[in-house]
Amino acid sequence: MKPLTRLLDKVAVAFRAAPSAPAAELAAEASAVPAAAVEVRPVREVEGRREFHGLLWFPVLTVDDEDKLVVAAKAGLPHCLRCERPLALAGQREEWVCAACGQTRPGSEADFFVADSVIAEGLKEFFAGHPGFRPAPSLSAPQRSLAS
Ligand SMILES: [Zn+2]
Repeated sequence: MKPLTRLLDKVAVAFRAAPSAPAAELAAEASAVPAAAVEVRPVREVEGRREFHGLLWFPVLTVDDEDKLVVAAKAGLPHCLRCERPLALAGQREEWVCAACGQTRPGSEADFFVADSVIAEGLKEFFAGHPGFRPAPSLSAPQRSLAS
């Protein structure tokens, strides 16, 4: 065998061996960490209040003050503007109904897109009032883009 061929063989063997060894070590390390040692970060929930298309919403942001991150955002249920009670989706036409005053709203006025807009507005407002806070990777891409 020529010296160059032998060298190339050695390189090939080293290259094949290299990636697997650290990966195996990392896996062993990861499994050695006991579940109790995983830190649960303290978070708080910030409730907003927002009128949107004749409905009242109380979107909730989950905030990590230590890392200055918004880790989650939920729109919650639409509420009756008059009674401030959560509406229930009812009937064959899928209307939002207030159990207290009987007011009804079409289901489409509190659909996925409206809920998304409510979250977006809530995030925008929070980031505007809390400089230094960033959206966490756990938020969706459209939600994360609101902080920039
Ligand atoms: Zn009502």
